[in-house]
Amino acid sequence: MSSHLPVALLDSLAGLPGYNRETFERVHAAAEKITSLRLNPNKITSPEKAQQVLQSLSAAGLNKVPWSSEGYYLPARPSFTFDPFFHAGAYYVQEASSMFLEQAVRATVDVSAALKVLDLCAAPGGKSTLLQSVISPDSLLVANEVIKARAALLADNLTKWGAANVVVTNNDPRDFSRLPGYFDLVVVDAPCSGSGLFRRDPELVSEWSLENVTLCSQRQQRILADVLPAVKEGGVVIYSTCSFSAEEDEAILDWLADHFELENISIPLEEQWGIVPTVTTKRNCTGYRFYPDRLKGEGFFIACFRKRSGESVRNKGKEKEPKKVALTARQREVMMPWLNVPASYEYLLHQDEVLILPPLLAAEMPLLQQQLYIRKAGVKAGQPGQKELIPDHQLAASLLVADQIPAVDLNLQQALQYLRKEDPGVTTAVRGWALVRYEGMNLGWAKFLPNRMNNYYPKELRILKEITGL
Ligand code: SAM
Repeated sequence: MSSHLPVALLDSLAGLPGYNRETFERVHAAAEKITSLRLNPNKITSPEKAQQVLQSLSAAGLNKVPWSSEGYYLPARPSFTFDPFFHAGAYYVQEASSMFLEQAVRATVDVSAALKVLDLCAAPGGKSTLLQSVISPDSLLVANEVIKARAALLADNLTKWGAANVVVTNNDPRDFSRLPGYFDLVVVDAPCSGSGLFRRDPELVSEWSLENVTLCSQRQQRILADVLPAVKEGGVVIYSTCSFSAEEDEAILDWLADHFELENISIPLEEQWGIVPTVTTKRNCTGYRFYPDRLKGEGFFIACFRKRSGESVRNKGKEKEPKKVALTARQREVMMPWLNVPASYEYLLHQDEVLILPPLLAAEMPLLQQQLYIRKAGVKAGQPGQKELIPDHQLAASLLVADQIPAVDLNLQQALQYLRKEDPGVTTAVRGWALVRYEGMNLGWAKFLPNRMNNYYPKELRILKEITGL
C-alpha cells in the first residue's frame, strides 16, 4: 500500500525515537479518519448532560481519550454543523494528541493558583479552550493570534466556550516583549511544516519540502525568542508542533537550552498511552513524540521548560486607572436584572457597551489595553439604552445570564432554523427579549412579537449549509 508521503520526509525521520518506517507508511496508507472532541466543563456540568450530548452524536459506544479528562473519540464523524450542541459550545472538536497539553500543564504549574497564561499562537482555539478548562476561574488567559482573520475566528470560538476570564489579542509575538516577566505560563503551539497532519489532510503533503522545514524551524526560533522575555522567573514555557521533523522538534529544544536560562521539565507518562519520549543528544532535553501508528491520534510533539532567571515582577508602567463601574444609575437599573454576575466582577463601559470582567482581568485591563491590540475581553453584556438592554450574543453564550430571563426551547428542526437566522415559527406566550435554547443550552437571543420572532443570532455565525435529511 502506498502512502504518498515524501521520500525526503521518510528518510529524514530515520533513527528518531519511535519511528518505524513500515508501520508509519502503513498507517498513512490506511488513511483512517479519527474524530475526537473535548466537552466544555463550563457548560456540561453533569454526567447526564455529558451522556446526552455524546449520545446525540452517535448511537455506538464512545471511548475516552486516555490522557484527557474531557476528551472522547467518536465512532464516526457526524455533521457538527447540524448539531445545535456544537453551536451552543457544549464541546470543541479537537485532534486527540493535542489534548495531551492538559498533562503538560498539570505537570508543570499549580492549576489551583491564579495564573496569567498566554496562548501565543492560538487560532482557531483548540489549545485555548483546553487551557481555559484546566486553569482556575480566577486565572487569566490571553489568547493571541497574529493573523487578523484568524483572530476573529479565535474570538468566536472563545465566545462560544462561554468563559469570562479570557482576553483575545491580535499581536505579533514580538509585542509581548512589552510585558516583561508577566506570564506564569506561555504556550507556543508553533506554526510548522505540518507533517503530523498528513494522515488527516493528505492535501498538505504537496506543500511539504525540506526547505520549508528549515524555514519553519527558523520562524519557530524567532517566535520563541520574541516571547521568552514575557515569561516570569520560575514560569513555564510549553512548546508544541504537529511536525515529525527533528529540526522543528528536538533541535528547537537544544536551541532553547543553548540560548536561554531554561530548565527542561519531564511529564509523567503511562506506558499504555503509546507516547514516545525523546531525549536530545546535545542538551539532554526531553520531549514527547506522538505517532499515528502507535496511538489513536495524529502526529504531535510537545516539551516543557521552566525559566530559571528573568524578571519575576513586571515593571509598573504609567497605566491609566481602569474605568470601573462607569455606568449611570439608569444604565445599571436597565442592566442588572439580566445578569447573574459574581459581586467581585467589574463592569467596563467600552464604546457604549458594557463588558463584564472577572477581578484579575479587570485589574490587568489597563496594562493589556495599553500594550496589546484587544479583540475581545471578558463577556460583552450589551448596550444599556434608556428603556432596555440590547443584549449581546456573548452574554447568551456566557454563564452570566440571570435565571429569571425568559427562555424559549426549540426542537432540533427549529433550533437549526434559528441557527440559519430564519424564523422557526414557534408558538409561545413569551413576549420581548428571550433566550433561545436547545435541550436547555443557550443558542442566542430573539425578540418575540405577537406574530413573529426577530432573530438576533449573529449573522456571521449563521449556518449557511442547506439542511438535509431532517
Ligand atoms: N493553537 C491552535 C489550536 O490549538 O487551535 C493552532 C495553532 S497553529 C498550529 C499555529 C498558529 O500560528 C496559526 O494560527 C498561525 O496563524 C499562527 N502563526 C503563523 N505565523 C506566525 C508567526 N510568525 N508568529 C506567530 N504566530 C504565527
